[in-house]
Amino acid sequence: MPNGRCKKMIGEDCTLVDMRDLNMAGLEEFVVEQLGEKKYRAKQIYQWIWRHRATSFDEMSNLSAPLRDRLNEVAKISTLDVATKLESVDGTVKYLWRLADGYTIESVLIPDGERLTLCISSQVGCAMKCSFCLTGDMGLKRHLRTAEIISQPLQVSADLPEGERITNVVMMGMGEPLHNFESVVTALDIMLDDHALNLSHRKVTVSTVGLVPMMAKLSARSPVNLAISVNATSEEQRRQVMPITHKYSLEDLMQAARDFQVGKRKKITIEFVMMGGFNDTLEDAERLYKLLRGVRALVNLIPYNENPGRDIRRPSDESVRAFQHYFLDRGLQCTVRTTRGMDISAACGQLGKAKVEKPVTNTIEEE
Ligand code: SAH
Repeated sequence: MPNGRCKKMIGEDCTLVDMRDLNMAGLEEFVVEQLGEKKYRAKQIYQWIWRHRATSFDEMSNLSAPLRDRLNEVAKISTLDVATKLESVDGTVKYLWRLADGYTIESVLIPDGERLTLCISSQVGCAMKCSFCLTGDMGLKRHLRTAEIISQPLQVSADLPEGERITNVVMMGMGEPLHNFESVVTALDIMLDDHALNLSHRKVTVSTVGLVPMMAKLSARSPVNLAISVNATSEEQRRQVMPITHKYSLEDLMQAARDFQVGKRKKITIEFVMMGGFNDTLEDAERLYKLLRGVRALVNLIPYNENPGRDIRRPSDESVRAFQHYFLDRGLQCTVRTTRGMDISAACGQLGKAKVEKPVTNTIEEE
C-alpha cells in the first residue's frame, strides 16, 4: 500500500489509493483484498496505468462500468505538473515538477549519441549535508512517494517525440535514494517490469553516499546497478566533506562494495568529484586505487561544477587527465563525466539551487 506518511492537502482525499504508488504485487493485493475482484483485473489495470499511461479510470474500456465506478470512489491516478521545462544549448533538458503540496523537484534528460539518460530525484532536498553539494543546503524536506519517483520517467517518456525512448535512468538527482528505500525499490520494480516501463536492469543505476546497511538490502531486493559517491581518498578527508563518514567509515564502505559484488559480475561505478586543491593530486589517485582493491570498479571522475555558493574550485584539465591516466595505466576503467546543462543549472550538484520552494497550501500531517 502507499508508503510513507500521507501528507494531505486541504480538500484532497488521502484515503484514495494512488495507482502510481503500486507495483504489480501491491496492485494485486489492492484488487483482491480491497475491491474483492479477481486477480486478473490487476493485470488489466496495471497495463492501462503503465503501458497506456492512462490518467483516468474511465478510459479503461475493458473494465466493467461498475468496476470503473468503484475505482473512481476509492482510487486515483496522480500526475506531476510541469512547473518549467528548460532546454540547454547542449540539448540537456531540465524538468521542474511541482508536487501536490507545492514543493518542486527536478529531473534532467541528457541525450548522448544513442543514449538518452534521465536523471531523477528521490527526495525533496537531502539530509546528507555533503559540504560541496547545493542540494544539501535545503536539508531534507520530505521523501518522495513511489508515485512521484516513477512519474518522472513515465511523464518524460510521454513528452518525447515519436520513436524516441529513455534508454537509461540514473537516480542521481536530488536526494539520497537509499534513505528513501521502500519508495525507491517499489519504483525500481515498475521501471524494470516488462509490462510497465521495461527498462533493462543494466541501464538503471542507483547512486548513494554509502548508506552501508542499505546497500546490502538493495542488493537483495533489486538487480539494478550501484554507484557510490566516494569523493575522497582517506577517512579524514572524507569526513571533512561527507558527514556520513562519521557513521560509516570509508573502510566499511569499501567492504560493503565488495560484499555487494559477491556472486555478481557487475561493476560498481565509483563517483569521484574532483575538487581543485583538495583531492586532485596523484597521491589521491594512488590512495583511491589502493582503497578500491578487490572492488570491480568503473571510476567516474566528476570535475567539480563551480557555483557562487561555494569556495570550491574546478580542478585543472591536466590534473583530471593525470588522475584518469593513473587508473587507465593500471588497467582500470576510468571515465571523466562531461559537464552538461550548466546554463540551465542542471549540472551535478546544482539541482534545487535556485530556491527552496515552500508549500503553497496548508498541509495536515496524518499518521
Ligand atoms: N545522494 C546520492 C545521489 C546524488 S548524485 C549520491 O550522493 O550519490 C549527485 C552526484 O553529484 C554525487 O556523486 C555528488 O557527489 C555529485 N556532486 C554534488 N555536487 C557536485 C558539484 N558541485 N559538482 C560535481 N558533482 C557534484
